Amino acid sequence: MLNKRSIEDIAVQGKKVLVRVDFNVPQNENGEITDDRRIREALRTINYLVQNNARVILMSHLGRPKGKFNDKYSLKPIAERLSALLNKDVVLAEDVIGERVAQKVEALKDGDVLLLENVRFYEQEEKNDPEFAKKIAELGDLYVNDAFGTAHRAHASTAGLADYLPSAIGYLIKKELDIMGKAITTPERPFVAILGGAKVSDKIGVIENLLDKVDTLLIGGGMAFTFYKAMGYEIGKSILEADKVELAAEILKKAEAKGVKLLLPVDMVVAAEFKNDTEFNTVDADKMPNDRLGLDIGEKTMAIYSEIIKNAKTVVWNGPMGVFEMPNFAKGTFALADAMSQCSGSTIVGGGDSAAAVEQLGFADKITHISTGGGASLEFLEGKVLPGIAVINEK
Ligand code: AMP
Repeated sequence: MLNKRSIEDIAVQGKKVLVRVDFNVPQNENGEITDDRRIREALRTINYLVQNNARVILMSHLGRPKGKFNDKYSLKPIAERLSALLNKDVVLAEDVIGERVAQKVEALKDGDVLLLENVRFYEQEEKNDPEFAKKIAELGDLYVNDAFGTAHRAHASTAGLADYLPSAIGYLIKKELDIMGKAITTPERPFVAILGGAKVSDKIGVIENLLDKVDTLLIGGGMAFTFYKAMGYEIGKSILEADKVELAAEILKKAEAKGVKLLLPVDMVVAAEFKNDTEFNTVDADKMPNDRLGLDIGEKTMAIYSEIIKNAKTVVWNGPMGVFEMPNFAKGTFALADAMSQCSGSTIVGGGDSAAAVEQLGFADKITHISTGGGASLEFLEGKVLPGIAVINEK
């Protein structure tokens, strides 16, 4: 188990603390923030530092400005929203490094908050350029990483800074590590994992790692068809990764050898075309017509999976059960979100599409933990140590 230093383990009073947060929020075409959840998730760490009289220097990326200054990706709207949420002034620096930023840092008093401009205005950020990291590091005394959503990337502000400053994790990363870490190391049983989404190839690492840990693995989404193929089923025009059929067969064998119940959908909603407004019906999984494609799990599968989820003590979910962007094929994903909300055990949703489904349904407050990082949580479930966490000092 990782034993990383957290902000509560370091003395922050009067210190200039550089904090990497994930303020990469969605915006509309006028640049208005459409969902400020990521900003709100960072408040606990920022408030702690303010209350403990640190001089807080925040860093984040926003969008993909490709290493150039671009007003469209300025953190100005974020500084305003953060200021409203904190109920205190937030100064926005016009740059990430340089003399003018240094002056703003020097002007900070204990408990003040400064936000640096978009770190991705410099191409050195994503290259984890040591000179760039060093220049940022010169602005502060301590480095705190609280950006779980980018912790799977080794960039200057997400990892490089730890080479130059004493470091710690913030509350958000701590929460992600505590909850997901407990689930995969000492889960309460039965431990059920639900994996869906388009491809087996994206989830191989997770499947391999979880096969050693879970009691039951529920498979859905497009990846089910590669498994069906391995079992000799007809899959019609459904999505298939032909080069992964053998691997799927191996996974089925491994699950059996390890005593893990690996379940595939028993019925499927099959459609004439890959679009919402098309003819569709439900068939048993071993009776798929050859001119149709499977776009969602059927009602029998929903009932079986829901029952298993409701009776689990730990559930981890990553990836939708069908093409949930199309309302006609979203029912399976929504049914499982509903079952998760009724489970009294520890329920964890691994970011991305499944997190969106749970939120759209209004179930978010009935889930133990919705990870703030899709890619990061997937790598965590693969058993990898994320670079942005690996670099942080141990206790
Ligand atoms: P992922 O990013 O791997 O979690 O995959 C999410 C995507 O998988 C979503 O965009 C879904 O539309 C897609 N998906 C789920 N089920 C199917 C299916 N049966 N056929 C094609 N795509 C699917």
